This record gives sequence, C-alpha cells and structure tokens, in this order.
Amino acid sequence: MNLPFTHPERLLKSFGIRQPDEIDLEAIAWELGAKIRFRALNTCEARLVGANGKAIITVDARMPVTRRRFSIGHEIGHWCHHRGRCLVCRPEDIGGVGSRRADDPERVADEYASDLILPRYLLTPLLRDVPRLTVDALVEVAVEFKASRTATLRKIVDIDRYPVMMVCSSRSKRRYFRGSPSVPDKWFPRNEVSPESSAFDMLFGSATEQSAPRPVKATAWFDRQDAGGFMLQEQSFGLPGNEVMTVLTFTDRKMLAA
Ligand SMILES: [Zn+2]
Repeated sequence: MNLPFTHPERLLKSFGIRQPDEIDLEAIAWELGAKIRFRALNTCEARLVGANGKAIITVDARMPVTRRRFSIGHEIGHWCHHRGRCLVCRPEDIGGVGSRRADDPERVADEYASDLILPRYLLTPLLRDVPRLTVDALVEVAVEFKASRTATLRKIVDIDRYPVMMVCSSRSKRRYFRGSPSVPDKWFPRNEVSPESSAFDMLFGSATEQSAPRPVKATAWFDRQDAGGFMLQEQSFGLPGNEVMTVLTFTDRKMLAA
C-alpha cells in the first residue's frame, strides 16, 4: 500500500536523507528552531519550552540512546503540532500504548517520532531483503535505525510486510497487542497468557529468549473456536518491568481469510 508521505517523512526527504544513519535528530531540531539538551530529569522524561519560534527540548540523559531518540522525536512532534502549550511529558506519555484518541497530543507526538526515526520510505525497502521476521532480524533493523525493538516492531507490524501480531504480556494479563492490517480483527488474543505459550515460560519459568521462532497451536493465543487446528510461529523477547513481547507470525494463510 502506498501511503502519502507524512510531515516528518517529507522533512527527512527535504534534508536529502537516504539512509537510517543519516537521521541526525539534533540537526533536524536545530533547523526547526529547537535546541536539544540532555539533563537528569526527575519529574518528567522530556519537556519542551518554546517561544517566538525558538524552543529548548530537554531529554532525560539517563535513558538509553534509543529511548532518548524517541523522546526527542516526540518533542519535535509537539513543537511542530502543539506550539504555545506548556509541554512536560511523563514516561507514560512517550511511546504510550493505551487506547488514545487519534487527536490526543501524546499520540500525535508519538506517531511523529515513529515517522521521524523509522520512516517508511527507508524501512520498507530494507525489509524486502528480510524474508522472515525473527527477533534477530528485528534487532538488526532496530540497530540500523537506533530505535528500540518495540518501536521498530510496531512500525514493521503497521507496514504489513508480514502477517504478524505483536503481543505484550505481563504475569497478570495481556497488556496490549497490535496486528498487521492483513490479520483479520477476529484474531483477538487471550486476556491471560496461556501456559502453552513461550511468553508464559519466560514470565513464570526460567526460560530465556528463544533463538528462533517455534511452532505453537493457535489456541495458545486465541480462544475462538475456529482457532483449533491452526498453528502459528511465535518468538518472544523480554522487556523491562517483567513484561514479554511476543511476535506471532500467521503462517497458515487460511487464518488470514476474513
Ligand atoms: Zn508528550
């Protein structure tokens, strides 16, 4: 599907950026009148103070580089969309996952960050050489874009190169999920992690990350009656805060029929 370029993508193109390692967020911010500072922040993760076309973006210096980049992209998004507001962004505002309205400023800023750091026009051609979405392949792409595995996975899911779903689980429940556009909505994952899944072994047992995807019964993830008889591929990786992310690949095309 050819989507029109978004504002951050047009911006990157106007800078002549043709490779992920050319995405210099500080230089881009500077061109937009914003200076980036890194400080230890205690009450928020990033903030934007702007007036008269100039802004200072401050980002918590103690965060990993991938998170700092996402926060910078998020604040540049606020600077482009929400000028004139006082913006102090908490960790849960940046890269948040709850169901937020499309016009929620935090969601708008997150989407801006995602398009700035992982622009489709650079990511899509790169994925052509990746026949299967394994966690190793995901890490390679994430490193290339200096993005987190989760942010990269989310963008790959949206691009729909593979029929996949990302499911984030904690011990007590499924936290959130997101499926590729080609995965029918009827595949709505279970609320609780099934003992048959690799996520369960990682959350409750001593299992470490798998080195490759493995086959699993679809019923481990979906409790619909018609899940019986289908198989999926699953591979999980650990996240901070005792959470696990699982990549489910719908290898049986019959599951993709609406
Ligand atoms: Zn924000």
